[in-house]
Amino acid sequence: MSTAAAARITGLETYDVRFPTSRELDGSDAMNPDPDYSAAYLVLRTDAGDGLEGHGFTFTIGRGNDVQVAAIEALRPYVLGRPVAELCADPASLSRALVGDSQLRWLGPEKGVMHMAVGAVLNAVWDLAAKRAGLPLWRLLAQAEPEWLVSQVDFRYLSDALTPERALELLRKGRPGARERTAELLRTGYPAYTTSPGWLGYDDAKLTRLAQQAVADGFTQIKLKVGADLADDVRRLRTARAAVGPGVRIAIDANQRWDVAQAVEWTNALAEFDPYWIEEPTSPDDVLGHAAVRRAVAPVRVATGEHVHNRIVFKQLLQAGAIDVLQLDAARVGGVNENLAILLLAAEFGVPVCPHAGGVGLCELVQHLSMFDYVALSGTVEDRTIEYVDHLHQHFTDPVVIADGHYTAPTSPGFSATVHRTSIDTYRYPHGTYWAEELNT
Ligand SMILES: [Mg+2]
Repeated sequence: MSTAAAARITGLETYDVRFPTSRELDGSDAMNPDPDYSAAYLVLRTDAGDGLEGHGFTFTIGRGNDVQVAAIEALRPYVLGRPVAELCADPASLSRALVGDSQLRWLGPEKGVMHMAVGAVLNAVWDLAAKRAGLPLWRLLAQAEPEWLVSQVDFRYLSDALTPERALELLRKGRPGARERTAELLRTGYPAYTTSPGWLGYDDAKLTRLAQQAVADGFTQIKLKVGADLADDVRRLRTARAAVGPGVRIAIDANQRWDVAQAVEWTNALAEFDPYWIEEPTSPDDVLGHAAVRRAVAPVRVATGEHVHNRIVFKQLLQAGAIDVLQLDAARVGGVNENLAILLLAAEFGVPVCPHAGGVGLCELVQHLSMFDYVALSGTVEDRTIEYVDHLHQHFTDPVVIADGHYTAPTSPGFSATVHRTSIDTYRYPHGTYWAEELNT
């Protein structure tokens, strides 16, 4: 143990954790019929003697989670030995080092497996920073000085759309009323919508039952997976609309299934059921394709983001007028630092952020980003809602709490990223107790 001021990061442990979700077709969609929801998970340890650890992860859907873990391992030399206090006071210093590695950079730059690894490590640092501050991450961010928040953002490649000066202005404008919004958030939570009724593998009876349950539970928006078969989608949309009535928003999600022309045709064929947005109509890299779809399917909104690599692609989607709804993901881009940039871009362009969640722990993470945005940046929840999927939360020590269709604001210190030790021991691949038995039979 060292004195608190001299404490350093002494360990980075990684875990390949896979949950056998493909057994129940939970999470099934048009492109991903049999996902085993997984986390490439890491724990940062220090010699501060306070028992605090930083937990972080990125989400995958099974095979390849070992590749993701290896990418996190490749970052270890940058993390071990770092002074804890300095690191937590300035996570951007580590962000610059990880993103800028002169050799690893070739594997991106700033995209794919390596960038997701960077995000996992940075999110673990933010978890540790929030725990050391004794605050849930959303409060740490909401209470931070605008100048410091701006210092945490990499503006490289953004300045044609957003400068540090403008970002500072946006954050200063977001300040007045923060105290009242914090109180409101603690009272009523943040709006959620649910994807639980709409997985492609569910039959119509299950869809109806879960859709009605969602409305009874206070949700005002649900989401259906589409894109495998048009006749099926027409029937499922009709079923869902009949189940929830006209006043509930139904978003649809094609998970990148279509080419541009097909996206337009298919979405317009479902228009009679009043879909609220079409999500991931085509390739997440196709900025101009999204813009073309958006022009052709209005008033249905276009949403994307869960597979958008980085802040630069989000900048282009916004500049091109390609999206109505920005769906950032807490664990795909370069951690909290890059998501601050993306929230600032969304605020600058006046586009609502409705984060992607579900997966493993994505709800737990992303609620902090939306709550920060509400309290200290956009200042509103109008047309903003966080995805909610009701599985795997039991594996987290500080799981999300949904009440009357809202995320309850977390109060425990940290980023809500910690998985129970017993869950790790059970679902570590391939030697955890569940998999050892499964793979032997
Ligand atoms: Mg989606």
